[in-house]
Amino acid sequence: MSKPRVLVVGGGIGGLAAALALRNAGASVTVCERAAEPRAARAGHGLVLWHNAVLALRRLGLDREIQKIGYELHRHVFRDRRGRAMADWSMARMARRFDAPVYSVSRPELHRVLSERVGGDLARGFRCTGLAADRDGVTVLFADGREIRADAVVGADGLRSAVRAALRPYEPPPRYAGFTAFQGVIRLPGHGVPEHTFLSTWGRGRWFVCYPLPGDQVYWDGVLGDRVDAPLGMTTAALLEREFGGWPEPIPRLIAATGERALSPVHIFDRPPLRRWSHGRVTLLGDAAHPMTFNLGQGAGQAIEDAVVLGQVFDPADPAGSLAAYEARRVDRTARLARRSRANGELTRWSHPVAVAARNAFMRATFDRLVYRKTYQLTMAIDWSDP
Ligand SMILES: Cc1cc2nc3c(=O)[nH]c(=O)nc-3n(C[C@H](O)[C@H](O)[C@H](O)COP(=O)(O)OP(=O)(O)OC[C@H]3O[C@@H](n4cnc5c(N)ncnc54)[C@H](O)[C@@H]3O)c2cc1C
Repeated sequence: MSKPRVLVVGGGIGGLAAALALRNAGASVTVCERAAEPRAARAGHGLVLWHNAVLALRRLGLDREIQKIGYELHRHVFRDRRGRAMADWSMARMARRFDAPVYSVSRPELHRVLSERVGGDLARGFRCTGLAADRDGVTVLFADGREIRADAVVGADGLRSAVRAALRPYEPPPRYAGFTAFQGVIRLPGHGVPEHTFLSTWGRGRWFVCYPLPGDQVYWDGVLGDRVDAPLGMTTAALLEREFGGWPEPIPRLIAATGERALSPVHIFDRPPLRRWSHGRVTLLGDAAHPMTFNLGQGAGQAIEDAVVLGQVFDPADPAGSLAAYEARRVDRTARLARRSRANGELTRWSHPVAVAARNAFMRATFDRLVYRKTYQLTMAIDWSDP
């Protein structure tokens, strides 16, 4: 029997991971990525790979590579905007329990590792514009007029997926979550972010996170709710200095050292979870299937988990049946995470002083015993059992 041909649309973290998993499962895979140049496809900065993402990458045989490019995070420290402690969660203890650490990685580095593994099966400069399916296969259409025929198609083309649009042409656009992230990555000796620490500072309708990356770098993002005004002509740096100016160190230092090199704003979107996202020989994966806000830091982790499960259930003799089996295994878990992530995002948007004081008091009282425990119950409830 010849190998079934699977076309993966989108060479982001999810699409590349899917290619590795499907190849291991006996498919002949091509990844079609719209960006013509590797750098354009690797835009973005830091990323936290939680225990579940690390376990999933391990299943793809990438343990050594991830160890090499990752920086271990041992604590997640929460404080309020005056610098008063709210919670201090030991990721190191959880790493021992789950036999996998939490890593911060540079997103371009993770892309590099994945795309090197995919090698010649990654084709760049292919922007998918639509699909046509019949009983025997799927034809994928590209912007420059090229067409590729495949036995199955995986749409891993992100939040504004063209594959999803072909399957669900009347779906409204993604919904704005009500906040926008300004990110920076800098190399700054004496940056003041404690070693191996993910530091989150919560204020009123805005918050700031930072963590070290490998090679003396620091990732940060300052997140502003949609109610913040910026006078015309105000630079990003000036806006962030105004909004986070009186916040505890190292926040003002990081913003000042980054200056206008802060990335342009990333508006945060998600979509209401779907009950189904596969149709016959076409499925979706990662943000194309279940875009979630970044509040749980699970978007990339879920894309990698999707890939592992797709590889586990893939039967070369029955591509369409395999896609349905994959979807059945992933819909509930990703929907739960997307809902929780959105709910956490809502908490961070609160701006009324009384509500914020109550939220912070609740965090102090229950965070370790309740909030984080519940989050772990959710994020670590992975079903790796073979079908
Ligand atoms: C500020 C921020 C911080 C985040 N932090 C974390 C974190 O710490 N941990 C975590 O797990 N997640 C995090 N996420 C979420 C994570 O970035 C995404 O969930 C993840 O990148 C999704 O991967 P993907 O491969 O599904 O989609 P994408 O990364 O969007 O990749 C899609 C790929 O498809 C390509 N493409 C798009 N359209 C087409 C087309 N028509 N034809 C061909 N190719 C196409 C794109 O060029 C891209 O390469 C964060 C997100 C944001 C915005």
